[in-house]
Amino acid sequence: MALMKNMTIVRRTIIWLTAISVVWFAVLAFVVLEVRERVRQDGLIAIQNALQDKTEAIERYVAGQHTSLNDLSYLFDFAALHDPIFNRSFWEKPPHQLDKNMAVFAKENGFYDIFLITTKGDIVYSVKQENDLHTNLLRGPYRESDLARVFKNALNDGSPYISDFHYYPPSNDYAAFMAKPIVVNGKIAGIAAVQIDNRSIHSVINDYRKLGETGEVVATVFREGQWIAMAPARHSGFKAYQVMQEPTCFPIDEVFQGHKGQCYAQNRSEQSVAVAWAYIKELRWVIAVSIHEQELLSDWHKLMTSLIVLFFNGVFIIGFMVVMAFRSFSGPIQELSHKAELISEGAYDIDINASKYDQEWQTLIRGFKNMSHEIKRKIALLNEQYALLSVQKNEIEALNQNLEERIAAKAETLQKYIDIVDQYVITSQTDAAGIITHVSEAFCKVTGYSKEELIGKNHRVVRHPDMGDDVFADLWKTITAGKVWRGEIKNRKSDGSHYWVDTTIFPNFENGEITGYTAIRYDITNQKIIEEMAITDPMTGLYNRRHYVKTVQEEINRAKRHRYTLAFMMIDVDNFKLYNDTYGHQAGDEVLNRVAEILKDYTSRGGECSFRLGGEEFAVLVGNLRTSEYVELAERIRKDVEALKIEHVNNNAASYVTISIGIALWNPEAAITYEELYKRADKQLYLAKEKGRNRISIFTE
Ligand code: GH3
Ligand code: MG
Ligand code: MG
Repeated sequence: MALMKNMTIVRRTIIWLTAISVVWFAVLAFVVLEVRERVRQDGLIAIQNALQDKTEAIERYVAGQHTSLNDLSYLFDFAALHDPIFNRSFWEKPPHQLDKNMAVFAKENGFYDIFLITTKGDIVYSVKQENDLHTNLLRGPYRESDLARVFKNALNDGSPYISDFHYYPPSNDYAAFMAKPIVVNGKIAGIAAVQIDNRSIHSVINDYRKLGETGEVVATVFREGQWIAMAPARHSGFKAYQVMQEPTCFPIDEVFQGHKGQCYAQNRSEQSVAVAWAYIKELRWVIAVSIHEQELLSDWHKLMTSLIVLFFNGVFIIGFMVVMAFRSFSGPIQELSHKAELISEGAYDIDINASKYDQEWQTLIRGFKNMSHEIKRKIALLNEQYALLSVQKNEIEALNQNLEERIAAKAETLQKYIDIVDQYVITSQTDAAGIITHVSEAFCKVTGYSKEELIGKNHRVVRHPDMGDDVFADLWKTITAGKVWRGEIKNRKSDGSHYWVDTTIFPNFENGEITGYTAIRYDITNQKIIEEMAITDPMTGLYNRRHYVKTVQEEINRAKRHRYTLAFMMIDVDNFKLYNDTYGHQAGDEVLNRVAEILKDYTSRGGECSFRLGGEEFAVLVGNLRTSEYVELAERIRKDVEALKIEHVNNNAASYVTISIGIALWNPEAAITYEELYKRADKQLYLAKEKGRNRISIFTE
């Protein structure tokens, strides 16, 4: 099909025309050959019919001969019945009156001659009265003749067969004979024989009607190893009784088996002929009819010639019409396609002289011109709109660029803010389980951890042991309820030191579900240090009196809430004025510091506090113990100080530095004020001093 692309209309039409012609020609050829075969077969049938006509005519003739001979043999018996002269002596000398009747009988029945022969072989009568008359067929000169042969056969078994046609000297011609016994009064009186006139058979064979110009009929017998023509042939030059060459046109064996048939074959001149053959049993003749195939096909040849002429005329006429049609099409098509090309190149002004073409073309060309003008107009319009669009496009681009610049500037500012927040705001985010998902740079800075170390860890990593569990319990309770928690948290840095942050934690929601938490903190460590300093005794590091006042109120409130007891212990160094006087003020400071260390050791847990109330006076606040346990605790503190074995020669209670402790208890049932609590402890301290120092005294009601 690639061949059919890019083709001119003319070439494509020629190809189609050729293809159609070839197909049409092939169909025509097929039909013509089919017809030819039919004609050939019809030719065979026709000559078979012609042959059949002849064989039937000959057989009818032979049957007629038999009937006539029969009639002849019974004629004498019939005559003898009515005429007594027909006796045995009749056969010795037949009467002359017989001549006239026999001649008529012979002529009417197509016999050449009729013989009456005695049973001893004497020919006693013949119509023609030739040399054979009065000869004896058993002994005479014709004893070897076919007449003698049929006589003997008739005498022996009565069969009236027809002898071959042989030259018969008395008639000086070829003759065949038939004979039959004459039965008179039940006895064989003699033999009647007839000589067959072969002109009747020849007239049948030589009838060439229906056999055209080339038809040929050949009658032959095969005798003594030779084929002998039994009738003159039409064209081949054979005469009757002439020895022939062996026929080539038909299968001899089949013919002698009595078959008939037909076929196409080559004759001796190597022409193709249709042949039909048949065997006439009684004469032992083979009759063949032939006709040249050329002649059979002559009508067909004429038909074929006419068809071919018709075909080529048709092709020529159609071709001529197509060419004429193209001449009227191709001019305007070429002009229009050329103009179309020009239009495609941008030349829209079309100048075609339409008046020289047919009306339809004029319409088409007019339409083409209008279309071209319309295209030109539309393109001009498009160009205008395009110019307008270009201007608008430039404006939009300028606007767009301005916008992009502004967005970029905003983004830069925003990024700066984000960086600042990242740098200076301590933020972190966790998932719902408290696993860190994001931390700011500031968070890393304050904790001393890197982002990599923090992300994926639990937020507990920065928890300081000083922070009680209750703070985190409250925190989680708040934020898991979806509320914001705010508070101060002491956290642990990576190096173990701590920092304080004011922390706000708020939950993050997605579709109403808490997905995590965000914490924002600010560092309050310095503030915490100042606060600590305000409540801390600088020399010993214990809380000062101011913090005691605040703490004792808080602890009482807590004990009130949780309903447990508190013990407030007032501790005073014994004879400390004397110590200063003896060992110096600096050594006194040293003593105060060492006592403070012991107090710290006993109040390291949450809710336990130790204070320096002033000078050489300290206090301890503990809770949620039994009374005996408070006493034990106070005793251990006292003993620990004594166990320091700091020499104090002027202490009348011992030779080392000792302390006295006054204890007052607070319980939720009594719920005394902190002033009362202080007063009671002070009183007990006084009592301990009174009792000799280096001892404890507990208030009991
Ligand atoms: P008592 O057994 O009755 O308590 O006898 P005392 O001498 O300890 O009693 P007092 O309260 O009269 O004496 C307290 C002394 O503690 C007075 C002062 O010299 C001394 N003192 C107070 N503050 C300091 C201090 O900061 N450093 C030193 N070295 N001595 C101090
Ligand atoms: Mg004192
Ligand atoms: Mg004292």
